[in-house]
Amino acid sequence: MQDDTAELTREKNSQGNILRQMALQACIALESPSTRTPICGVPDCNAAGIIQCLDCDHDDLLCRSCAVSAHSFLPFHKIRKWNGSFFEPTSLNICGLILHMNHGQGSCPHVKEAPAPQDLTVVDTNGVHIVSIGWCCCFGAPSFAEQLFSRRIFPASTLRPKTAFTFRVLKLFHMFNHVARTTPWDFTGAMNRLTDNVDVKSTPVSAPLPFCRLSVNGRFCLGYI
Ligand SMILES: [Zn+2]
Ligand SMILES: [Zn+2]
Ligand SMILES: [Zn+2]
Repeated sequence: MQDDTAELTREKNSQGNILRQMALQACIALESPSTRTPICGVPDCNAAGIIQCLDCDHDDLLCRSCAVSAHSFLPFHKIRKWNGSFFEPTSLNICGLILHMNHGQGSCPHVKEAPAPQDLTVVDTNGVHIVSIGWCCCFGAPSFAEQLFSRRIFPASTLRPKTAFTFRVLKLFHMFNHVARTTPWDFTGAMNRLTDNVDVKSTPVSAPLPFCRLSVNGRFCLGYI
């Protein structure tokens, strides 16, 4: 009986070791392109593939322009750029992605009369992002705050918001707060570390106060999210 238990434990340990080894190899393989000259993974595009998305469920490298097109409705994905030696962090904002409001993927025809796309700090479940927003300025257009609400983004102020939170991250905080008693301070710390776990103080949302206030305001509508 004792021999059987020891044998079972040995087998489990050996399976655990194999899985750890496989995970390690997979992680190392993902740290460089599979070929010396990777091509963009979008069919019919022959540009060099240099952008890797950490949040898309595929391992293709895309060229800068295809990466921006593929993320027109996924502006909070984290990306890295192959610089010939290693993948360095970059962002869809730096690559030129603009999140257009009120006109699907197209930009507002009155964009010339509108203020230039504005950088907005948005907290999502995977960290803090700077996103370029192309506001709709058509006659009778919804307010900036209403335009954000229509994309399930909760602005921290109404007139010209500079910080906002996705409904997803509010829901996540709501659940953590109720189930694990996570405070806004701890949650903000975790979000900042998800953004940059090395230089935590460099992240744009350094104080949990907006989260405190939003967690109170947001609670009115969290039941509907
Ligand atoms: Zn992606
Ligand atoms: Zn491409
Ligand atoms: Zn418009």
